[in-house]
Amino acid sequence: MAVHVEMSVTRLEDHIFLVDVSPGELHNFIASYVLKGKRVAIVETGPASSVPKLLSGLKKLNVSLEDVAYVAVTHIHLDHGGGVGTLVKNLPKAKVIVHRVAVPHLVNPEKLWQQSKEVLGKEITELYRDPEPVPPERIIAAMDGMTFDVGNDVRLRVVETLGHASHHQSYYETFSGGIFPGDAAGIYLKDIDVVVPTTPPPFRLDASLASLEKLIALNPTALYYSHFGKATGAVEKLRAYANQLKLWVSIADHGLRNKQSFEAIRDKILESDESVRKAVKYVKAHPVLGGVVFDHSVQGALKFAEKYGDVSPK
Ligand SMILES: [Zn+2]
Repeated sequence: MAVHVEMSVTRLEDHIFLVDVSPGELHNFIASYVLKGKRVAIVETGPASSVPKLLSGLKKLNVSLEDVAYVAVTHIHLDHGGGVGTLVKNLPKAKVIVHRVAVPHLVNPEKLWQQSKEVLGKEITELYRDPEPVPPERIIAAMDGMTFDVGNDVRLRVVETLGHASHHQSYYETFSGGIFPGDAAGIYLKDIDVVVPTTPPPFRLDASLASLEKLIALNPTALYYSHFGKATGAVEKLRAYANQLKLWVSIADHGLRNKQSFEAIRDKILESDESVRKAVKYVKAHPVLGGVVFDHSVQGALKFAEKYGDVSPK
């Protein structure tokens, strides 16, 4: 019996396409972006389990696998870069762009896999599956400001955006003026037009705010969220996200000083953050977000406040 792979491809600009890589048929959650110049660049692969869907997306877009020059990932969390190793086995000429700190974990993903299982639990890691190693000669250890050109004025510029992780980078696409922020700008719940934080430990508020300033300074025309899809009003969204992160840490800091429990602090965040309040039902019903991800974000804000206090400028 032939296996029919369901996937959806959306044209966002003349040269930018979104492939919904939908692990386990979980739609509108993980995006991979295909950028067409003379050659092709891919931003984010999704997890290893999603690679067949991404490959059929490329086929649907008439992309020859030989023409893919770059696979750029914002960071190596399984939902963003877990598929890199599996994907490049199919792309004879592609180089992988990743933050330099993450290179060893792509070459040898065993530790990343073990940690992911501990942090995310069995259900989610089984949904994402284990990452395959990437041959070192395929990897470009990226630095802030590096630019990668695929022709026809389509270029990706690396913008180092630490905070969500210590090896996170975003990509500015010079032709559209849009940004691929990975997890640096939160999770955009397109269905309800709300952004919720993704701040698992070891989240750094100080680094996140500096990263958001860097992205705002580029005055982007659009955000292409990995979770999920294109959004306009980019600068307002980035500013709002910075305020949301500050609010979370200030609630966490206040709660810690008053010896409140994790649950009390989480509930306070839920009632004080208007966006999160709008998202509660959606998040609770979501197989991945509703499980551990939201609690992890609260945990990240708490751990940061515990260690550094409320450092955000008032
Ligand atoms: Zn992440």
